[in-house]
Amino acid sequence: MTAPGLRPITRKLLELTRALRRVNRACSTFQTFAEVLRLPKRQMTKLAFPLQELQRQLTPDARLDLHVKIFDPSLEDISKAESVFTATGRNRIEYLSSAVRLDHAPDLAQPEVCFIGRSNVGKSSLIKALFSLAPEVEVRVSKKPGHTKKMNFFKVGKYFTLVDMPGYGYRAPEDFVDMVETYLKERRNLMRTFLLVDSVVGIQKTDSIAIGMCEEFSLPYVMVLTKIDKSSKGHLLKQVLQIQKFVDSETQGCFPQLFPVSSVTYSGIHLLRCFIADITGNLKTDGFGQLELNT
Ligand code: GDP
Repeated sequence: MTAPGLRPITRKLLELTRALRRVNRACSTFQTFAEVLRLPKRQMTKLAFPLQELQRQLTPDARLDLHVKIFDPSLEDISKAESVFTATGRNRIEYLSSAVRLDHAPDLAQPEVCFIGRSNVGKSSLIKALFSLAPEVEVRVSKKPGHTKKMNFFKVGKYFTLVDMPGYGYRAPEDFVDMVETYLKERRNLMRTFLLVDSVVGIQKTDSIAIGMCEEFSLPYVMVLTKIDKSSKGHLLKQVLQIQKFVDSETQGCFPQLFPVSSVTYSGIHLLRCFIADITGNLKTDGFGQLELNT
């Protein structure tokens, strides 16, 4: 029997153990797709196809609104695409250089994708999660909003280049619009722009400026919804439906399917890797509807 004076301490210790277990669970990420495939089916679907998981909550006719099947790779396709993002002796994934002006950007022939978003939207965390299979790559994760003031170029083997654009909004560099605008307008090998929106707060005024820019230059872009682990299912579904409605009615160049992700749980990260590998031309079908790595 516990002495009366010890009871509150024991209770506190128990609470602490439970809290630590919760933190542990939240931090256990599934960086490789092989780990995801070992999960029970429901949990696996939630991590691999977060939009599909959300869609289940809708009535059958409302389900059409989410366009989950436009990019709908098989589990095998996702596994194959992972090798593009896995650093090996033959597939060097590395930081290349930074630039404040387009004419300082590396002159590369391979396809390029860029990531843009408001400061604090979770851009560095997302790029870090995408590169988690290349642990040598150093992606700075900001503590203070607005620290990324340069375009940072990362080379993903012979496959493509990924560009981390400066965050906009609060304390953005004065020449931000000039820098980003020129890059978006003039970069010849830019295949796709990934525009990040915080799923907790939805599309903000500053996001609309970036959306307007992509639309004005007729760029093909994709909306990635970050931090999906932070909201309840109900709140997330509401935001996703609102953003989807906006994309359907107000945009021309935006890919109709949204990509919800969490850099904490790795939900949606594997699907996004597969999408990037696909649109940069690094996956091809083998004629039987299956994706194969372009070597
Ligand atoms: P950036 O300014 O857009 O590069 O944003 P960061 O990647 O530095 O993230 C801003 C803040 O959001 C940091 O405190 C991150 O830890 C947090 N964050 C980023 N992504 C996620 C996510 O997926 N889930 C949660 N819960 N927090 C995130």
